[in-house]
Amino acid sequence: MSDTIERIKCLIIGSGPAGYTAAIYAARADLKPVVYTGLEMGGQLTTTTEVDNFPGYPEGIDGPALMDDLKNQAERFGTEVRFGIVTKVDLNKEIGGIHKVTIDEAVEVEAETVIISTGATAKYLGLESEQRLKGGGVSACATCDGFFYRNQDVVVIGAGDTAAEEATYLANICKSVTILVRKDYMRASKAMQTRVDNTENIKVMFNTELDEVLGDKVVEGVRVFNNITNEKQELKVTGVFIAIGHKPNTEIFKNIIDTDEVGYIQTKGKSTKTNLPGVFAAGDVQDKEYRQAVTAAGTGCMAALDAERYLGTLI
Ligand code: NDP
Repeated sequence: MSDTIERIKCLIIGSGPAGYTAAIYAARADLKPVVYTGLEMGGQLTTTTEVDNFPGYPEGIDGPALMDDLKNQAERFGTEVRFGIVTKVDLNKEIGGIHKVTIDEAVEVEAETVIISTGATAKYLGLESEQRLKGGGVSACATCDGFFYRNQDVVVIGAGDTAAEEATYLANICKSVTILVRKDYMRASKAMQTRVDNTENIKVMFNTELDEVLGDKVVEGVRVFNNITNEKQELKVTGVFIAIGHKPNTEIFKNIIDTDEVGYIQTKGKSTKTNLPGVFAAGDVQDKEYRQAVTAAGTGCMAALDAERYLGTLI
């Protein structure tokens, strides 16, 4: 090992619930973890207001406060949390091999194990009004924010399984749900669509796109247009749920780690093992099904245990 290059036993990339939970477990196992936080320190929950579904907080907790708690808990056991973005990885294919990771295009560190918990990012349409009203009625997570729209009228944009699932979830809470579908059919699976069709308070508008979210500080409605007739109309709603897919944050691992066709890291069986020895993946970066803080935390725990066991086999 060179004198100048730092060697880390357990390097964790990403600081969402998966990364910090991995850090808590790795630190308690004396792996002296180092977390590189990424640009959005604390991950997706730092852009959420109230989190009501994380166990242990009967009164709910603010997203940023929850992430602070997780960070503090990881640090209490000796985790070193560093602000920095991993810009390049050179991952070893051999059992016991050392992985090289570059931070901010400048500093290189070496790691015996790497836990990838870089998360996924919800896709947005890119409208100015949509961005402005994020957190003020525009959301990309029905399970996170649906509760705030009890007995209200909302729209869901999208036509895949996520849109169908979010719409049926919201239909249990809201007065009405309108799904805006840009084509003349939904791409969602048959079972999901049947559920949508059988839910009385869900209406589907085909060939319909969002033109503008209306409202100054909070959502007061949407203007939509029919992409065949170009006819515009306004719908009075208080919530806009964007469900047009997520993008896993895996660009730097492209062609290095096995992913599915969308880019989600593939893990082996029930473990967090990737195709590379000593490299593990936890949280949304490897999960397009559940995407919850608590499931991310669960896989973070698993990744730390997998890393500890892997190191144990090398002795
Ligand atoms: P998908 O990529 O499957 O679907 C995205 C949808 O958003 C498409 O219907 C697409 O429309 C629409 N869309 C994209 N861009 C725009 C736009 N600019 N304006 C309007 N509509 C747009 O993403 P999902 O998140 O739905 O699903 C991702 C994966 O996760 C899938 O494999 C899915 O099966 C899986 N999943 C499974 C679940 C389950 O089994 N419980 C639950 C949720 C997801 P178009 O059709 O016109 O391209």
